[in-house]
Amino acid sequence: MQGIAIDRLAKRFGGTTVLRGISLEVAAGEFLALVGPSGCGKSTLLRSIAGIEHADSGTIRIGGQDVTGLRPSQRDVAMVFQSYALYPHLTVEENIAVPLAMRRLSAMQRLPLIGGWMPGPATARDSITHDVRQAANALGLGNLLSRRPGQLSGGQRQRVALARAIVRRPAAFLMDEPLSNLDASLRVQTRREIVAIHRAAGVATVYVTHDQSEALTMADRVAVMQAGEILQVAPPAEIYADPQDLRVATFIGSPR
Ligand code: ADP
Ligand code: MG
Repeated sequence: MQGIAIDRLAKRFGGTTVLRGISLEVAAGEFLALVGPSGCGKSTLLRSIAGIEHADSGTIRIGGQDVTGLRPSQRDVAMVFQSYALYPHLTVEENIAVPLAMRRLSAMQRLPLIGGWMPGPATARDSITHDVRQAANALGLGNLLSRRPGQLSGGQRQRVALARAIVRRPAAFLMDEPLSNLDASLRVQTRREIVAIHRAAGVATVYVTHDQSEALTMADRVAVMQAGEILQVAPPAEIYADPQDLRVATFIGSPR
């Protein structure tokens, strides 16, 4: 299938089992929120999808390709964390363009850079510029393109990180509590923008949060995780109204 398909993924750290045979599918264009208490294995699962961690057993397919043994750079994924590392000396436009320039560079087998940091003939530069502007506009950054990160607010910096993640149209978009460093009103606004760019990009998205209301308002489906297992995966209304067991109900705060 397109999107993400995880089959019986298991992972231990030393004597601790962190993922207990997770199976999960996220369709292309679907927004899945992964929720659960701190320490239940959300980040480990997301990092395994990205290839930053490697599971002990099980398989991961992304966009129809078995990526289980592949490095992050060999997977068609983009990941956004709560701390967003932007390049301080580059403008907003250049920061967003970095993944495109890197992809071009590897396509050109790392020929030496001539005539500026962005390589290639003018037509390639134009298409990079077009894609960068489109991503920037989607996140309301259109009039900030020539600023540097030091001249932006925290919320604007996080939006640059999001634009940089979606600009090369990955098959999987992974976010690990991307809003937890923002204040409450900015969180609500940025939530809407994340859902909007997800819809525009039509990409399989896994959004990790420990905030139940974020999950219930943003996602097509919610996966509730606890102690290395997924207890239930269902649309928000169903998770809320018909939790499969008491642990789901307690975590989601469903009326009983
Ligand atoms: P969550 O994101 O849900 O809070 P994590 O995936 O970060 O949970 O962690 C799950 C469990 O795995 C925790 O008990 C954590 O201490 C442990 N863990 C995570 N990463 C490592 C690591 N690199 N080495 C050892 N233990 C780890
Ligand atoms: Mg985590």
